[in-house]
Amino acid sequence: MGIERPPSVDRLARSLTSSGLPHAICVEVAREAIESQRVDDAQLMARQRSRQMLRPVINATGTLLHTNLGRAPLGIESSARYANVELDLATGERGSRQRTIAGTVALAAGAEDALVVNNCASALMLVLAALAPGRGAAVSRGELVEIGGAFRVPDVMRQSGAQLIEVGTTNRTRRKDFEAAIDVADVALVLSVHQSNYKITGFSEQTPVSELATLGVPVVADIGSGLLDAACPWLDGPPPPWLADEPAARQTLEAGADLVIFSGDKLLGGPQAGIIAGRRDLVEACGRHPLARALRPGGLVLEALQQTMLKYIARDGASIPFWRMASEPVETLRTRAEGIVASIGSGEMPTVVTVDTDAVPGGGTLPGRTIPSCGVAISANIMDHLRNGDIPIVARMQDGRTICDLRTVDPADDELLGGRIGEALGQPR
Ligand SMILES: *Cc1c(COP(=O)(O)O)cnc(C)c1O
Repeated sequence: MGIERPPSVDRLARSLTSSGLPHAICVEVAREAIESQRVDDAQLMARQRSRQMLRPVINATGTLLHTNLGRAPLGIESSARYANVELDLATGERGSRQRTIAGTVALAAGAEDALVVNNCASALMLVLAALAPGRGAAVSRGELVEIGGAFRVPDVMRQSGAQLIEVGTTNRTRRKDFEAAIDVADVALVLSVHQSNYKITGFSEQTPVSELATLGVPVVADIGSGLLDAACPWLDGPPPPWLADEPAARQTLEAGADLVIFSGDKLLGGPQAGIIAGRRDLVEACGRHPLARALRPGGLVLEALQQTMLKYIARDGASIPFWRMASEPVETLRTRAEGIVASIGSGEMPTVVTVDTDAVPGGGTLPGRTIPSCGVAISANIMDHLRNGDIPIVARMQDGRTICDLRTVDPADDELLGGRIGEALGQPR
């Protein structure tokens, strides 16, 4: 009996083309399968490799801004054409990639001027580097927050070259604490950071921006989530109750902040970006700093952000996917859930039923706030099956049941979702 020889890498790679992966990656997978003596698993390994690629995902978790799923859903159109990223079409001369977008962002936020960078973390970095190099930036001890693992305010400040001046106490910081700091230290600016993902309750007090604005040094407010206007004029009704006291760009500037900074992909519902908006001279100082070049976004982001901002200016929240999903009436979601349950047909085990749920804004915003929602509950764990399709569906488990919350699902995907649930329960497609 001869020892079976492993197949050639090339032949095995060729047998993997149905995975849709380019040949060079099939070769890598084939080589790995042969080296680890898992030739029989090569197809599976190729499928796994293909699944690790970035792809559209259906979010049935009920978390609107899901950090693992890229935060805000983006429904933008893009073409294969070039864009006038740095061309002034009026003169044919080289233009500024920031100028047009700045006007649109500034108008939407009620600011004098604006600058766009890659995310809110880089916005904070740039503001500190440009406005407080080697000087002090005063922050309340109650606002030295960590947001999403790697973003810690004290660390960003250290990297920026600004000197952190801690003011007040963890639970209470008053205007006079800032005043005292300004008396003894070289304070270039006061930084107010929204606590975003946690709350201090009980005997606590933070100094409002309106009081910080009377200290005589520039006030920079990191409001984080990018709510543009507390009145939500882009919605048909009043602001939803789950927004409660979330700080908004327009009102923070009106209260006297010299600059606000915020994310593009949280409550703004746009692409990943960081926005610096406010006083023109300060925005311009940020734009002149060498870091601005390193942190500048590409044309794809600018185009997506512009589309989002124009929808705000047109007061058309229904065409911003985040706001459309967040403000869908729960009755509509229930009707959709009933349709999905009916399409599957239930009765035997496991059961499929309509369920009332709590959706959440997510993305490190609005801790503890929920949005009434509705979905489909399956009395079994079918999470793996849902996740392992061409268009993966991410749901969540609760009390041993798989919950598919419809608030974060595009209605156009209901049929696919119903089909995949039926499939998981052994029904023919
Ligand atoms: C989320 C958040 C950030 C970080 O924003 P990124 O866009 O993720 O960099 C910074 N500050 C506050 C207050 C936040 O809520």
